[in-house]
Amino acid sequence: MQRLLEGYRAFRAKRWPYEKQHYEELAEGQRPKTLIIACCDSRVDPATIFDARPGELFIIRNVANLVPPYSLDGGLRGTSAAVEFAVRKLEVETILVLGHAQCGGCMAALDHTIGQDMVFLRPWVALLEPALERCAHEADPLTALERESVKVSLENLRAFPFIADAMRDRGLKLEGARFGVADGRLEILDWAAGAFQFVT
Ligand SMILES: [Zn+2]
Repeated sequence: MQRLLEGYRAFRAKRWPYEKQHYEELAEGQRPKTLIIACCDSRVDPATIFDARPGELFIIRNVANLVPPYSLDGGLRGTSAAVEFAVRKLEVETILVLGHAQCGGCMAALDHTIGQDMVFLRPWVALLEPALERCAHEADPLTALERESVKVSLENLRAFPFIADAMRDRGLKLEGARFGVADGRLEILDWAAGAFQFVT
């Protein structure tokens, strides 16, 4: 907590003075144009990677940047609820699913190292199972699965009826990317080629 309070004081001293007016405007309401679905991983902060100001990005973070399949089973679905809010209320223009290198969630899925006692994590990471087979025979299965985790989420997003409607009616765009922690490079999913290409 001490480190957090030091950080807060630094924010108030250095950043607040020049962001004050911006925050006052944001207090009237947020209008982010982009929803980012990223991993919880502490090394992959979307606001840092995209050099974003407060109010620019609506961000959902969970283990392995996953969107579960559309379901009305009555379960409490935090990711789906936030996606619904971003698309139907905020009317974001773009959804970006952001995967990353050295993803612990993808590693655990590949190696089947999540114990039975991990009662929430185990079924969550099992969302990657459809992608596991597609990656098993790749030269670099982890990188392949990190890319596939993005595709799994995009496929699930497209099956949400209100997302399909927004894509058709107002041009909502779905994009995918993967961030390299060690080299800081970003690769983007090229829909036409079905492959990821580095941003130059
Ligand atoms: Zn991760």
